[in-house]
Amino acid sequence: MALKFFNTLSRAVQEFVPLDPTGNNVGLYCCGPTVYDFAHIGNWRTFVFGDLVRRYLEFKGYGVRHVMNITDIDDKIIKRVHETNTPLREFTGKFEAAFFDDLKTLNCRPPHHTPRATEHILEIILLIEKLLARGLAYKASDGSIYFSIEKYRGSGSQYGQLVNLNFEEMRVGERVRSDEYAKEALADFALWKTRVPEDGGVFWPSPWGEGRPGWHIECSAMSMKLLGPSFDLHLGGEDLMFPHHEDEIAQSEGAALQAPGQKFVKYWLHGAHLLVEGKKMSKSLGNFFTLRDLLGKGFNGREIRFLLLQARYRETFNFTLEGLQSARVSLMRIDECLTKLRELAGSIGAQQDAPLLSEFSTALDDDLNVSRAWGAIFDWVRDTNRRLADNSMDAASAAAGLATWEKLDAVFGVGAPSEVEVPIEINALLEARQAARKAKDFKKADAIRDELKAKGWIIEDTPKGARVKKT
Ligand SMILES: [Zn+2]
Repeated sequence: MALKFFNTLSRAVQEFVPLDPTGNNVGLYCCGPTVYDFAHIGNWRTFVFGDLVRRYLEFKGYGVRHVMNITDIDDKIIKRVHETNTPLREFTGKFEAAFFDDLKTLNCRPPHHTPRATEHILEIILLIEKLLARGLAYKASDGSIYFSIEKYRGSGSQYGQLVNLNFEEMRVGERVRSDEYAKEALADFALWKTRVPEDGGVFWPSPWGEGRPGWHIECSAMSMKLLGPSFDLHLGGEDLMFPHHEDEIAQSEGAALQAPGQKFVKYWLHGAHLLVEGKKMSKSLGNFFTLRDLLGKGFNGREIRFLLLQARYRETFNFTLEGLQSARVSLMRIDECLTKLRELAGSIGAQQDAPLLSEFSTALDDDLNVSRAWGAIFDWVRDTNRRLADNSMDAASAAAGLATWEKLDAVFGVGAPSEVEVPIEINALLEARQAARKAKDFKKADAIRDELKAKGWIIEDTPKGARVKKT
């Protein structure tokens, strides 16, 4: 079956046909974090969704170039820099580093490029110059440069490709300076914002005087620089559809760098909102969580990633602490099943479990139907446990099961930490206990067992010897 995605551009589920027919150069751009604070769990749903798309494309054999920008200059950052009186780079650097730590905690594959907006001011200026030269941008009386929606539409282009817009209410020439605005405030938007006192020391020289870029132009400039004027996939949260993504299309296609008949982006994928404990996340409701808040409550990256991957990306998902508890139990079921398979198989096999693999890819080909894919995995766990219990599984099918799991987990990325993660000190204690038992010094063996327990590890005696497990 062919891979299909829901494309916001066509409002339909479409087969994925890459621009490069060899499939070796799939361009994937995900709007990255605005580094003014720690990313919250709603943001993380989008980034994990981006990681899933990338991993699944790789699973299907595509060569993917994954770009995720770092917005290190925008209205929100300027405001915080001003409030905290911190130099820009020092301020954003802290949150950028935290973002990359969190990305790792959630086992997301690092994007191939993570361009910073502040390092692409030249590309931004060149793009604005193209828009000015094409008559689609103009300098306002305050010295800022704006994108003219009237001129753009007048040139035969469509503004409102991702969302339906009501132009009746729009007053020609009305402008919006802020990076974020609602559909009702439809107006010409800022490409370059002339320097104002609140910007403090944050400004760059440009042909139009000192100032800074608008948020939307940053993504157009960086994506086209790294992926070319036309690329395959652009992802983001649904809150970015308007104005951010709509403006990206207008700027990028307005500059007319694409080959005739080509669009800026072929497939636009948008992730739905996350509710937390049944409600929209807000600090006043006490349901606003950063990843760190959840780690602080004793959950780990695996459990959080697992939960974020339970619902299909286009569905609103209710993220709860109870859900995280269930995630822990589900992962334990998988881990226990895999441990038993490893004991029986000895090593991972060359053969794979073809029905499981095919059910998994049929589910994900269908616009990333993760619920169905998990359903297939848990059916397999149940069936495997049954076969293990009645001794009807041989070493070869255990090895095949393990090989299949490795393949599926390259997509979901929730695999169990392997034995090598047992600290050396703990392994040494385990060996000392074995030695004591061998020497029939059971008092010493028990003392070591208690010591391990105090350190959070319990010993399990199996037919293949003893091993430790975290309590
Ligand atoms: Zn963006």
